[in-house]
Amino acid sequence: MGSGPRRLRKRVQVARISPETIASIEQATDIISLISEYIPLKRSGKDFKALCPFHNEKTPSFYVSPSKQIYKCFGCGEGGNVFSWLMAMEKVDFVDAARTLAERAGIKVEEDRAPAEAGAIDKDKLYRANDWAAKEYEKYLWDDPRGAAAREYLAGRGLGVEVARAFRLGFAPASRDTLLRSLGQRGKSGAEVLEKAGLVIRNDRGESYDRFRGRLMFPILDVRGRVIAFGGRTLGDDTPKYLNSPETPVFSKGISLYAINQAKQVALKAREIFVMEGYTDVLAAFQSGVENCVATLGTSLTVHHVRNLRRYADKVYLVYDADFAGEKASDRGLDMFLEEELEAYIVRLPAGEDPCDFFIKRGAEPFLKAKEDAQELFDFKAEMASKRHDLTTVAGQSRALDEILATAAKVPTAARQELVVARNAVLADLAERLNVSEGALRDRLKSLRTTRTARDPKPGPAGKDVKRPSEETWLLESVLAEPNLVEAAAAQVSPEDLRDKDLSKLLRAVYKAFSEVGEVRLASVVTAAEEHGLGGLVVTLSENGAKHANHERRLADCIERIKATKARATRAHLRKTLLEKADAGDVDAQNKLLQEYQKRL
Ligand SMILES: [Zn+2]
Repeated sequence: MGSGPRRLRKRVQVARISPETIASIEQATDIISLISEYIPLKRSGKDFKALCPFHNEKTPSFYVSPSKQIYKCFGCGEGGNVFSWLMAMEKVDFVDAARTLAERAGIKVEEDRAPAEAGAIDKDKLYRANDWAAKEYEKYLWDDPRGAAAREYLAGRGLGVEVARAFRLGFAPASRDTLLRSLGQRGKSGAEVLEKAGLVIRNDRGESYDRFRGRLMFPILDVRGRVIAFGGRTLGDDTPKYLNSPETPVFSKGISLYAINQAKQVALKAREIFVMEGYTDVLAAFQSGVENCVATLGTSLTVHHVRNLRRYADKVYLVYDADFAGEKASDRGLDMFLEEELEAYIVRLPAGEDPCDFFIKRGAEPFLKAKEDAQELFDFKAEMASKRHDLTTVAGQSRALDEILATAAKVPTAARQELVVARNAVLADLAERLNVSEGALRDRLKSLRTTRTARDPKPGPAGKDVKRPSEETWLLESVLAEPNLVEAAAAQVSPEDLRDKDLSKLLRAVYKAFSEVGEVRLASVVTAAEEHGLGGLVVTLSENGAKHANHERRLADCIERIKATKARATRAHLRKTLLEKADAGDVDAQNKLLQEYQKRL
């Protein structure tokens, strides 16, 4: 029963973009150029290869085929086409992926604006509401006398009009209902959307008021440049100093990175990115010409942040004020860089200068110099741990040791060579400083590692272990590997004949593609399958099918078996009804069924 509403939603979504549009999006998008925007691809024969973005590996097993327009990892089994890729990378559903690709290809999407199921929140509405609010706030900052204090604050920090406008900064006046009043005609329904977007709060008495009041506003944009949330800095003594939008269907603090849409281009080119803490830090960096900068939104780093960063860079530089570096070192978020094997470095700025001040006072050059002196993450953590504890006492030594080893244990055993070397160097150094044997350190490390792996075993890829009837799997493998056989298969097996629901859906998609265009393009089947989240399965089936020879023979075999299974099921069903009728004494029905049964035998 649980799949009911979900299935309904899928159907609503599928109906929203026409199959013709989906087909033209697919035709207009080249998988090589799309994937290259995320990870570097290297040519390898007629295909392209790369280190797989879906699992950790040292030698590439991720392949992209320009002729088939699909990707496939032979290490972890992930596979799909342009739609699957975007769904996985941007964490969006099929319709959102289609919209993004349409935009990219300059294709206009005619959307059926049928209302979504009751209670569902239309993300589009939230994007539009946020965008509208951003424009309102911009107006108050630049064209309203009430914005004077905010303009003065910016000038005082040394942030110019140009960068403030580029980041769409704004101002929320102090009154309780600025946004609500600007709604004008759209009053009631508009207020509801603003509430869902987190811009308006409703109290227990049912009164609505603006969340952000008397604050300098920093819109938070997603990678596609849509406003998803806001951060507001107070200009008075209000607490908190910074107030963020709450979590909404379009905003999640633990995933989002401030300025990622602006930083993306330079970061992708340099394969390096700076992570700062404040909005103003990022603005000052951009103003100085350092444009591969993002900020976390007042939260510790999460594994989602780290994975998000990995899309844009191979090296991550965390920028800290030296005063607070010690505090940051205990942030468990840092260990995730080790676990995810993303190279991370700490850039330490002089004490008392946050990155914003540093850039305004000194400019980009000294900053890039500080980057050259950046400390490798593991080294940094070791240094901080030995500083935090009193190494002249045995107790202090052992605490420091445990802390460092706990971090060292996060480096995967099969990690990249550089990481292992770095870890070993730090361990050797540590052994010397603490006057213990390196062997003892390694033993302790080993035991930490075994307790860790015992505690959280890595879950296998979802859906991999599903057992499917082999003859049905063969059927799909054959028609996907040898599209010439589709017609023969369609004449003998219908999708309803398959017991496996997923394979049945796939077979329907194959037949449909064939009847519409007279041929079966793998990428189109993947697209059709992706509407059910089965794109990866199609790629796997096609790859497995390609390993076999004599598809005709294999197809005939499996059709025979599918027919036999079906006949058995029909007879069993007839027999059961026959017995029921006999019990009920219904002689007419019994005779009719008996004839039918004999015919089938
Ligand atoms: Zn993989």
